Amino acid sequence: MLEFEEALARVLAAAPQPTSESVSLHDAAGRVLTEPLRAPVDLPIFDNSSMDGYAVRATDVRSATPTSPVGLRLAGKVAAGQVFPGEVSSGTCVRLFTGSPMPSGADAVVMQEDTRVDPKAPEEVLILTEAQPGENVRLQGEDVRLGSPLAEAGQVLSVGRIGLLAAAGLARVHVGRQPVVGVLATGSELTEPGRPLQPGRVYESNRPVLAALIARTGAIPQAFPLVVDELAGTSLALAKAFNQCDAIVTSGGVSVGEMDFLKPAFERIGGSLEFWKVAIKPGRPFAFGRLRGKLLFGLPGNPVSAFVTFLLLVRPALLRWQGATDVSLPAHPGILSEPLSNHGVRRHFVRVKVDAAGQVRSTGIQASHVLSSLATANGLVDVPADTTLPAGSAVTVLRWEY
Ligand code: AMP
Ligand code: MG
Repeated sequence: MLEFEEALARVLAAAPQPTSESVSLHDAAGRVLTEPLRAPVDLPIFDNSSMDGYAVRATDVRSATPTSPVGLRLAGKVAAGQVFPGEVSSGTCVRLFTGSPMPSGADAVVMQEDTRVDPKAPEEVLILTEAQPGENVRLQGEDVRLGSPLAEAGQVLSVGRIGLLAAAGLARVHVGRQPVVGVLATGSELTEPGRPLQPGRVYESNRPVLAALIARTGAIPQAFPLVVDELAGTSLALAKAFNQCDAIVTSGGVSVGEMDFLKPAFERIGGSLEFWKVAIKPGRPFAFGRLRGKLLFGLPGNPVSAFVTFLLLVRPALLRWQGATDVSLPAHPGILSEPLSNHGVRRHFVRVKVDAAGQVRSTGIQASHVLSSLATANGLVDVPADTTLPAGSAVTVLRWEY
């Protein structure tokens, strides 16, 4: 039986090197960048106004107050997208809007609310307050300097970063190609949801969960029909899926029972098993193997075990395959509101809910078939074997947001 860290290291080492493809920024959110990016421009690209108002020379309005305004001659107007052709000379001002380029000669913007224009003399603007040089001016390069880093290779592109790249004028980026990952569920008891249920049968719940988890790593899930517990059929189903996909995630049939055909079927089609037991709860039976450069992740059938082992061992591999540097689940500090006990001999990843204040509590019964305590969970706490963490303990919550 492998320790969790050893299993993770072996899975990550087996993940193929990422291959890159060029995509439009419109399709790039959530994808893994495979090239470092530097700013081809300053941001802001030019000095511009942060307000609707008037470009002035700060020295002209030094004495301005509401009771003793300074009058300036209106020399022109610059809408966003235009450039003022002249120069703001002493005693004049130029009408600006948010984003309008600063006209040369001016060094500050007085916002419209601090000015007054008599409709009968619209060529004169009364300035009601002083302005400091640089006031209400967004300076060229104050956000990003030409040539400075915009993003690193290995980063998952956040929506905010997409905005930064677009503002810098980038239209396309290189990202890791997305592996196509087949999803198979084994078990002669399984019935498609929506169909009538025969005695002794249960509804299949792992494929929609695993497909959704695969999609959230950026990989492309492909679901296959249910597989009955029988060697020839399981071998055929695996062979077919491996022909169409880069990796396969299966659920069920990896334990020690005589109805567990996943491992023999995989070996029968030429696969080599790397390991199949990990010292974690839930999820001890977890088969990992390779076939012609493709990967098999054989997850346990119990729905919570499948979910947890996916997040702990499959998600990192699929992210690394796309080039991601950081493949761990987001870790947030929290404080236990109640004790968490693990009376077992394996470390237990306990389903918890962490609230906005960082208070952490168990979501209920922790057996690996209990889905209600998964439905309400938003994280896991790793409780060592034979340990009770008392209420008030500082813990790390491994989080997901889906
Ligand atoms: P197994 O790992 O095949 O021994 O299955 C362990 C338990 O998980 C059994 O109670 C199965 O009925 C259940 N199970 C296996 N696969 C699924 C599935 N795809 N959906 C729902 N339950 C499953
Ligand atoms: Mg089974």
